Amino acid sequence: MPSRNVIVIGSGPAGLTAALYSARANLNPLIIEGLEAGGQLMLTTLVENWPGFRDGIMGPDLMAEIRSQAERFGADVIRGNVTSVDLGRHPFTVKTSDHEYTARAIIIATGASARLLGLPSERGLIGHGVSTCATCDGYFFRGKPIAVVGGGDSAMEEAIFLTRFASQVTVVHRRDTLRASKIMQDKAFANPKISFEWNSDVIDIVDHGKGEVTGMVLRNNQTGEEKQLTVDGVFVAIGHTPNTALFQGQLELDNGGYIVTHDGSRTNVRGVFACGDVQDHVYRQAITAAGTGCMAAIDAEHFLDGLPQHLGEAHATASPELPQLP
Ligand code: NAP
Repeated sequence: MPSRNVIVIGSGPAGLTAALYSARANLNPLIIEGLEAGGQLMLTTLVENWPGFRDGIMGPDLMAEIRSQAERFGADVIRGNVTSVDLGRHPFTVKTSDHEYTARAIIIATGASARLLGLPSERGLIGHGVSTCATCDGYFFRGKPIAVVGGGDSAMEEAIFLTRFASQVTVVHRRDTLRASKIMQDKAFANPKISFEWNSDVIDIVDHGKGEVTGMVLRNNQTGEEKQLTVDGVFVAIGHTPNTALFQGQLELDNGGYIVTHDGSRTNVRGVFACGDVQDHVYRQAITAAGTGCMAAIDAEHFLDGLPQHLGEAHATASPELPQLP
């Protein structure tokens, strides 16, 4: 069973930055990319708020740069998805569908995934008019009417972006005020192609037997009135869920399912660190994810510096020398 100093689970800005820093600390980290390699920035176009790029940089280009920077210093990146972890014994065990590894320290950077409304029709029509990524799928809706569900910054950003393609963008929001920042609200309100359906719940997405979205059914949650909206696409932008299913019952999670970190990136299990969106429901920015990735690498390095050497050997059994944090 291959044994590593550090395994980084996830390859978005947090995971790759953690790998870059731990590689430069000579820890030869292994990054297991996960199903959504590169993370959420792979689904974006121009990133204009990453410091150092005055004119912006394309999301996938930025991730490719950070990845090759980490590899240059000795990080190994493998494809694959982690299927289970055992954080109850040290060294920790990490399994993918093909391999099993042990690690003296683990950095979790599994991020968060787009939330869905939960309608059966929504799931069935994903890829057939229902999308969670405007930058990936907007192009398919040239000259067509579409809807964006949600009232936050993501919804406004997607709605504004989609006006480049769509004939009309209807924002469907469950309340009568937006959660989005003032600047995004102002941009959306000023865009002549964007209109709003307020106090509206989506109760169905319909395809009229065509296998492609043809419309949606909305219910006004103040009056109970139902109406049909004719659209060819529905972009769901209602936030994200942290990818923590692997760690349930093994790590302390908050009510939203996010990993709880203490004193930087430390979880309640010594030797296990978390960074990026999997532990952050407040900032959720690429740059803050990268910053916490750096913290996790430094915290892991300090942990490994203080770890008795025999605990680093593969196949060690559970050790009383690794008490859980209070
Ligand atoms: P968010 O701020 O949590 O907003 C989610 C929106 O979806 C809210 O308006 C919410 O309605 C609605 N919603 C949630 N569950 C729903 C459901 N089941 N049915 C219908 N509507 C539902 O998420 P976000 O927009 O993805 O933004 C996340 C974070 O990233 C925020 O901090 C945001 O500022 C940041 N962000 C920033 C930018 C930018 O600065 N350019 C871009 C994107 C995101 P309620 O309002 O009623 O709760």
